[in-house]
Amino acid sequence: MSKILHRSTRADLPTAAGGCGIELFDADGKAYIDASGGAAVSCIGHGHPEMLAALHAQLDKLAYAHTGFFTTEVAERLADRLVADSPRGIDYVYLVSGGSEAMEAALKMARQYFVEKGENRRKHIIARRQSYHGNTLGALAAGGNEWRRAQFRPLLIETHHIAPCYAYRDRLPAESQHQYGERVANQLETKILELGPDDVIGFVAETVVGATAGAVPPVDGYFKKIREICDRYGILLILDEVMCGMGRTGTLHAFEQEGIVPDIMAIAKGLGGGYQPIGAVLLGRHIYDAFASGTGFFQHGHTYMGHPMAAAAGLAVQDIIRRHCLLDNVVRMGELLDQRLRERFGSHNHVGDIRGRGLFRAIEIVEERSSKSPFAPASKLNVAVKREAMARGLMVYPMGGTIDGVRGDHVLLAPPFIIDAGQLDTIVERLGDALDAAIAA
Ligand SMILES: *Cc1c(COP(=O)(O)O)cnc(C)c1O
Repeated sequence: MSKILHRSTRADLPTAAGGCGIELFDADGKAYIDASGGAAVSCIGHGHPEMLAALHAQLDKLAYAHTGFFTTEVAERLADRLVADSPRGIDYVYLVSGGSEAMEAALKMARQYFVEKGENRRKHIIARRQSYHGNTLGALAAGGNEWRRAQFRPLLIETHHIAPCYAYRDRLPAESQHQYGERVANQLETKILELGPDDVIGFVAETVVGATAGAVPPVDGYFKKIREICDRYGILLILDEVMCGMGRTGTLHAFEQEGIVPDIMAIAKGLGGGYQPIGAVLLGRHIYDAFASGTGFFQHGHTYMGHPMAAAAGLAVQDIIRRHCLLDNVVRMGELLDQRLRERFGSHNHVGDIRGRGLFRAIEIVEERSSKSPFAPASKLNVAVKREAMARGLMVYPMGGTIDGVRGDHVLLAPPFIIDAGQLDTIVERLGDALDAAIAA
């Protein structure tokens, strides 16, 4: 009997024993195509020889030095690299150990930024419903997923939520995509005015919504409008690209496709590709300068921040992406995956929407296509899809509560950037079989 409190005490988990390329192997030798990278983590696949070499080399050199005493060459190089590869406006890096830590740091950084500037009264964080920003208390409070928040509500700091940008469900028939985007973005202005512009810290959003709603991209113009509103009221735009960032959508950062730059952003999952736990906050010069010309001290920190092994993993992932031109492959294979999903599910009775960007795609499952009505939550369809897919040697990332935290189901796909066309065919074929089997059951 296991002595681990697993995510579910009822789950009967296979034991992962090895991995190579796009596949994981369990202890019985069964192979699974990792078509979701776990949770959009394993962006360069498993057991990549160049990763192993980089990590072995770092381990031989130095495993750990506390950041209160030292900086390290590898952490400095990773930060240089992240800034060099980002658009203008991203100038500094704060290294942590994962996505929730990055979001917690981002929220505290945003608050202290205003304290440094003497704007002490700013206290409100505005975010969106149906978003996920992590499971620690601050990040959970910022997140807008009811199911995840409900039982912890008494412990959560006060935050405020506006509508997501979710065109498939919420765009009115008479609206263009652009008009819809303007309408939902304007909810930010309404909320700022309601709370008092001088009391708001910032707006938090996932550039492309990940786990909670399933690869939901913003409509054209939405984030331009959001940026404009943030600027008009002098509040910070904080983007959470923990899942959608680091190449997943075909550009290093997902916001590059929106024509905007955030003040502060969080990255994690694909940053270390699963080889080490690592996350980071990226920030603009104006944020850094407020600290540098103020107290000079960001009142935060963790024992393992800037960990050399984690930094080595982050740097090696970036080297591999560049050396093998993997972002080009994300774009090409992303388009092919979209095409294959449309061929297989485009007229499927129980698939209402096919969406996403790059190698970050999802299908939304419906009971009835024309009314977009979801399956009853009690049928736990997403659980059945996961089970059927695993039985067929396929890892995908299905989730329920797509619409409002309770109703709706989707399946998220986030295959490694090294994927090829033949492997995509196998993924879509197995997914189709798994979905049909789950619905039949
Ligand atoms: C996974 C995720 C997080 C939390 O990251 P952890 O590493 O699990 O703490 C935060 N935001 C988004 C968008 C995520 O997908």
